[in-house]
Amino acid sequence: MSTTDTITIEGFTAWLAAFRDRVTEQRSYLTELDSAIGDADHGANMARGMAAVMEKVGASPATTADELFKTVGMTLVTSVGGASGPLYGTFFLRLGMTAGAVAECDAAALSSALRAGLDGVVARGKAEAGDKTMFDAMAPALEAMDAAITSGASLAEATAAARDAAAAGRDATETLVARKGRASYLGERSAGHLDPGATSTALLFDALAEVTAS
Ligand code: ADP
Ligand code: MG
Repeated sequence: MSTTDTITIEGFTAWLAAFRDRVTEQRSYLTELDSAIGDADHGANMARGMAAVMEKVGASPATTADELFKTVGMTLVTSVGGASGPLYGTFFLRLGMTAGAVAECDAAALSSALRAGLDGVVARGKAEAGDKTMFDAMAPALEAMDAAITSGASLAEATAAARDAAAAGRDATETLVARKGRASYLGERSAGHLDPGATSTALLFDALAEVTAS
């Protein structure tokens, strides 16, 4: 296995920075989506949370994945008031625990760690497929990533497949009726809008594909 087929701590940090950049650039858009079916704070929540994450990570650089993602998860849980803070926080905490005290991950290890993150989101929020949440972008992304890895894809190819599936999952939330979170209070009126959390999750996988592109 060549070293280009792993993601290092530096790569993970670049992923987080790229996610921060995306949620910051798309802050108004995410908030606009959340104003349609929520309380208009998803852009602010994610931008504030990821700014706090990059400050913490910059102040005390980690040498292992578990250390890095523990900082990320704890910072999101404590700095974001909305549902998304604890959910993304749990995602990163579990991701780090599963990746472990390592300095790099290959595609299979990364996929297992991401899967543990998704399991954490489900443990915390109880979302199922079609509930119109971040789950609907994250779960298909990991299915696509695993399928790509099984068929021999490189890390770059696997994360590109995950990015595309996350985007498709995000798009598919538009017609769904929300069954979890604030949007569920709207019932049928939640249909016709993209889910804000699925939209930020698509940005997360877009950032991962970018930093692992060969
Ligand atoms: P809040 O809903 O508290 O204002 P945000 O606006 O930051 O928090 O985040 C809303 C997003 O959180 C939703 O678009 C959805 O994707 C996600 N979400 C809400 N509840 C759940 C849940 N139980 N499981 C998974 N994701 C959820
Ligand atoms: Mg909100």
